[in-house]
Formats: sequence, C-alpha cells, structure tokens
Amino acid sequence: MKAKKSLGQHFLRSEKALRAIVETGDINHGETILEIGPGRGVLTKKLLEAGAKVIAVEKDDELYELLRQVYEKEIENGKLELIHGDIIEFDLSKLAAKTYKLVANIPYNITGAILKKFLETNCQPERIVLLVQKEVAKRIVAQDGKESILSVSVKVYGAPRYIETVKAGSFTPMPKVDSAIILIDNISKKYFAHFSEKDFFTTVRTGFKSKRKKLSSNLSAIFAKEKVLETFRKLNLDENLRAEDVGIETWGKLVTHLCSD
Ligand code: SAH
Repeated sequence: MKAKKSLGQHFLRSEKALRAIVETGDINHGETILEIGPGRGVLTKKLLEAGAKVIAVEKDDELYELLRQVYEKEIENGKLELIHGDIIEFDLSKLAAKTYKLVANIPYNITGAILKKFLETNCQPERIVLLVQKEVAKRIVAQDGKESILSVSVKVYGAPRYIETVKAGSFTPMPKVDSAIILIDNISKKYFAHFSEKDFFTTVRTGFKSKRKKLSSNLSAIFAKEKVLETFRKLNLDENLRAEDVGIETWGKLVTHLCSD
C-alpha cells in the first residue's frame, strides 16, 4: 500500500517518539482518547496498551479496512471504536464520554483546521497532544515579540508546551521537515468570561492585519482612532507596540475596553 500524499500520510516508526506521545497524554485507565488518522495503528496500539478507550477516525478507505481487520478483537470488546470518516466533519457533540483527550500524529495539511475545531468547540478535550511540524510547534509557543494569530488563538484556550523534537527520519515516508510533540493543557473557555470569542478574534485579526503597521494603526481600521489611543493610555501601553509584542493578557484588556460602548 503506497502512502498517499494528499492525506498527509507519514507513518511514525520511532518507539521513542511513540512513548513520549503516550507519556505526554498522561493516560488513565479507562479514559477516552480520540485519535485522528490512526494510519496503520502504531499509536493506537500504544494507547490501547495504556488502558485507554480509543476512538479513532480514519479517512483512508484502505487503512480503515486494514485497521478493522487487525483490531477486530478490540473493536468487538469495545476497547476501540473505529470510525471511517473525515475528522473535520466529525460531530464532537456525538461523543459519549463527558471528558476525553485528543492524542494523535495528524495529517499536517489540516493542522490549523484541527486546532480550530477542537479549541473552539463546546466539546473541548481536556488536553491535546499532537505531532505537528516543528516550525508550527515553535510558532504556537512563541512569545515576547513573536506572537502571531496562531499563538494567541491557542493560548486563549489552553497552555501550549513544546515537548520534544521528532526528527524527519522517524517517519516513513520521510517528510521534508522535522516535527515536534506539542501539548496543550488546561483547556477551557474561561478566558472568554467578559467578552465574546467573536469580538476577540475580530480585534486580534484586525491588530495583525498589516505587518508594517503599528498595532494602534491597525486597530484604527475598525475602532475610532481616539478610542484606540485613549485605551492605550489607560492601559499604559506604548503607542508604538506591534501586534507581535502583545500577549493574551493585554489582548483581553484591549478587547474589554475597545468592544465596550
Ligand atoms: N497516526 C499514524 C498515521 C499518521 S499519517 C502514524 O503515526 O503512523 C496521517 C493519517 O491521517 C493517515 O492515516 C491519513 O490517512 C489520515 N487522514 C488524513 N486526512 C484525514 C482526515 N481529514 N480525517 C481523518 N484522518 C485523516
């Protein structure tokens, strides 16, 4: 069976990486783990061995068939629920378990869509452990002058941590770049107690709009310039600040002031 590029198929073959992923998942016996793209089932096997109840969603027809045969027993005794489908279309409100964790080596071409789906939903996982491209992992945890829409969008929902690098040679076929295990812990929507997610993301996207402009100038595209400058003064923020300099705490204050009448 040839690996399909269109489905982002890079199969993990490093025992060390597999162990690190499962360890980072901090799996308790009997808890539900959702796995995206089980592939040939290397991670699925470890998750089952750790005592998890695994729900695995695989899009590929052939791999789904293969897994169904290999894991016939586990499927029969309810340890593994194998779902043939696209994770992006998967309805999370259908999950029977109240709490679950997302643990997976995902297809990299849908990393952004996966993060968005699992962080913005009302059925958030307790924690997320993913293998992603190393550069993406670095961008997610970046701070102090290196914030981005991506880093901010993750941090408002949970605490991301760069766990470890996984070399390109740990996969077959070998991807072009190195990967990394990332953990997103303490997931919740607590951050949005005083303003809406909609107002927040509109403000952040506007703030990052033009790379060459200061944050205050970008924000003046949708808020009155006077209000923006007054808010900066009130919050003791430097007028020359760039969006990349702003952490989620300050973003929260900005949105609170700017989006109130
Ligand atoms: N987890 C396996 C395979 C990783 S490769 C391993 O570590 O070896 C990515 C896997 O995701 C492949 O099995 C691919 O078929 C599957 N996949 C790709 N797009 C998907 C989607 N939209 N929904 C579910 N699975 C998908």
